[in-house]
Amino acid sequence: MDKEVILRQINGISFFQFPHLAAFPEICHGIFTRKSGFSRSPYCSLNVSYDVGDSKSNVFRNRQSISSCIDAQDLVFVKQTHATDVLIFKKMETPQTLQKIVSEKGLFGDALVTDIPKKFLAIQVADCQAVLMYDPVRHVVANIHAGWRGSIHNIIAQTITVMQKIFNCNAGHIIAGVGPSLGPCCAEFKNYREEIPRRFWKYKDDSNHFDFWSISRDQLCDAGVLDANIISSRQCTKCNPELFFSYRGEHITGRFAAVIGIR
Ligand SMILES: [Zn+2]
Repeated sequence: MDKEVILRQINGISFFQFPHLAAFPEICHGIFTRKSGFSRSPYCSLNVSYDVGDSKSNVFRNRQSISSCIDAQDLVFVKQTHATDVLIFKKMETPQTLQKIVSEKGLFGDALVTDIPKKFLAIQVADCQAVLMYDPVRHVVANIHAGWRGSIHNIIAQTITVMQKIFNCNAGHIIAGVGPSLGPCCAEFKNYREEIPRRFWKYKDDSNHFDFWSISRDQLCDAGVLDANIISSRQCTKCNPELFFSYRGEHITGRFAAVIGIR
């Protein structure tokens, strides 16, 4: 049974925290909602994406609100591409990835890992999962954008491999939280035979709804994370339109932010 996420509020901005990650005072994390931002409909109001048609100045102000809310002056947003590139920010090194895909227009990637204090990692979602991780022994944090494409390519395992190879992490030490995302109540895939590999069909019910929350938990466990160290928020984005943006629910909509960093 997952422990309940905690709702906190700073500077009038609400965010959720995973209790097992909140227990480590040396890190800060939060899953922000769509509330208390500057953007107007259909992006109302705390939209953090520049790529969905919202006013750039409002997105900038929204990102600034989040930065000041959790005292994260260096808050890294990247272009997410539904691929599996892991961006590494390591002490004394410039940003790099295993595939070296740093672009002139900014950083591209779907997972971020760092051991640098005060570098906060942001993932933008509206139905996709943000998976937050912390290794309290090596003092390494990670933030993953896991949509269904990321899930079927197991971006979770690829990120944990980077944590192990580049940062000497032990999967058995990792604390993981799976954020609000499209739940099995709403994740219908009518074309699953074309889109989803057969090995994932066991996560499907009779009405073609997939349980990506269970897929992530199993992928974390298969990579060596202890089941007791995983909490899923189990909040469906489409079922909670007052709290979260949902692409399935609204199509033209914003993205909410999941953030983690070492203080
Ligand atoms: Zn739902």
